[in-house]
Amino acid sequence: MKTYEMVIGLETHVELSTKTKIFCACTTEFGGAPNTHCCPVCTGQPGSLPVLNQSVVEYAVMAGLALNCKINRRSIMARKHYVYPDLPKAYQISQYEQPLCEGGWVMLDSGKKINITRIHIEEDAAKLVHQGGAVCIDYNRGGVPLIEIVTEPDFRSAAEATEYLEKLQQILRAVGVSDCRMQEGSLRCDVNISLRRQGEAELGVRSEIKNLNSFVSVATAIEYEYERQEEILSAGGIVEQETRHFDADTGTTSSLRDKENADDYRYFPEPDIIPVVIPDSVLERLKSAIPELPDAKRARYVEELGVPEADARMLTKYRKVAEYFEEAAAGVKTPKTAATFIVTQMFALIQTEAERENWSPPVTAAQLNELIKLLESDKISRNVAKRVFGQMLESGKPATAFLTEADLVGFNPASLEPLCRTAIAENPKSVEDYKSGKEKAIKALVGAVMRASQGRANALEAEELLKKLING
Ligand code: ADP
Ligand code: MG
Ligand code: ZN
Repeated sequence: MKTYEMVIGLETHVELSTKTKIFCACTTEFGGAPNTHCCPVCTGQPGSLPVLNQSVVEYAVMAGLALNCKINRRSIMARKHYVYPDLPKAYQISQYEQPLCEGGWVMLDSGKKINITRIHIEEDAAKLVHQGGAVCIDYNRGGVPLIEIVTEPDFRSAAEATEYLEKLQQILRAVGVSDCRMQEGSLRCDVNISLRRQGEAELGVRSEIKNLNSFVSVATAIEYEYERQEEILSAGGIVEQETRHFDADTGTTSSLRDKENADDYRYFPEPDIIPVVIPDSVLERLKSAIPELPDAKRARYVEELGVPEADARMLTKYRKVAEYFEEAAAGVKTPKTAATFIVTQMFALIQTEAERENWSPPVTAAQLNELIKLLESDKISRNVAKRVFGQMLESGKPATAFLTEADLVGFNPASLEPLCRTAIAENPKSVEDYKSGKEKAIKALVGAVMRASQGRANALEAEELLKKLING
C-alpha cells in the first residue's frame, strides 16, 4: 500500500446555455468577432447597472435539483474583488454567503457519494488572447452566466474525479442547462489536491490546479501532483499552499502564485442587485421540468426493457442517442434489438464524442423501428436485417429499398430440421469433435445450416436443434 493517500476536491465552472448574459441582454453565443457581443454593462462602464437574468436563476436551480441540492429560497449576490484585465469592473459579481444551492451529491457507479458543498451563480470573465507579443482582450465571454459547483474533498483517486465529471456532464446535458463542452470551455475544472498519511484524519496542505479543460488533463494533473507532493513529503518537506498551472504539452504543473484566501477578495454583498427569492410556484414548476436523469434511464433500460447493462450505458451517455433509441424501440417486442443495432452498427460509423452528442444519423429512428418490426414478424432473418441496416446507413434509404424478393421469402421453421440433419450427415468430423467435448465444433455445423438457408435460419434455434439431434 502507498504511504500517502490523495484527497481531492473539485470546483467546476459550467457555462449556462441561456440565450443572454447574466446581467445584460447581450448574446451568450460562442465565438463571433471579438468584442461584438458586449455592451456598457458587460464591459463595466461607469454608471451602467446590472439586472439579473431570471433564466440564469432558473437554470441554476434546475442544476441544483438534478444534483440533489437544497435550494435556498433566498440568496444574495456578492462582489469578489480582484484586479486583472479580464474583469473591467475589478470585481466579479458572484455569490459568497447564502449561495443559491447547498448540500447535494452525485453517486458514482461504486455507490460512493460525492458530496456537493454548494452551487452558486456568477459572471464569466473576458478572454485574454495572446497575439504576436501583445495581449488582446475579447469581452464577448464577459458576463456569460456560470454556475460554480464545489465538492467536498471526497475523491481519493483520479478515476473517481473523472467519473464524477462525466456524470456531472451527462446530468447537466440531460437537464439541458449547459452543453458542457470542455474543449469550448463551457465546462472547466479546478482541482484541489493534498496528500496525507494513510489512516490520518486531518487534511494535508493542498495545491489548487486551475482551469483544466479535458478529462485527460484532469487525470494527468492529479497523477503529476500526487508524485510531486509525495516527493516533498517523503523528503520531510512541507507542501506550500499555492495555485498551480497545468501544462498539457508536458503533463506537468508549475507554481502560478500563492493561494489567495477569501479575505484577499474583500467579498461584500452586491448593492446593485436585490436578493434572489424563489417563490413556491417557481420551484414547483422547475421541479416538474426535471427530466429522467441518465442513471435512472439506464436502470429502466436494463430492468424494464431488457437491454444489456453495457448497451444501456452507451445509450444513456448521450441525450439524443437515448431519445433516438426510445423512438426506434417504440412498440417493438425486443427493445434490446434496437439497442444492439445502435451500439454495434451505428456506433461503428459514428465514432467521435462530438458526433454522438450531436447525433444526426443517416437513418431515422422510424426507419430503424420499421426494420425491427420486419425482423420480429419473421419476414426477414437477423442476418438479412444486419446487411440491410448496413446499406441503410450507407445510403440513408429505408429498408424496403434493399430487400430483395429472396430476402422476403422468409424462413419456414419447418425446414430447420431437415437442414440440420443434412448438416450433421455432411460433416461427420465436426460431429465427432463436438461429441468428444469440443464445444466449438457445433459452430461449424451452425455455419453449414446458415449457408444452406442463405442466412435466413435463426442461428440460436439451429444450434439448439443440432445439439438435440446429436445428443440423441
Ligand atoms: P477556496 O474557495 O479558497 O478555493 P474552499 O475551502 O472553498 O477554498 O475549497 C475549495 C475546494 O478545495 C473544495 O472542493 C474543497 O473540497 C477542496 N479542499 C479544501 N481543502 C482541501 C484539502 N486540504 N485537500 C484537498 N482538497 C481540499
Ligand atoms: Mg478555489
Ligand atoms: Zn452586455
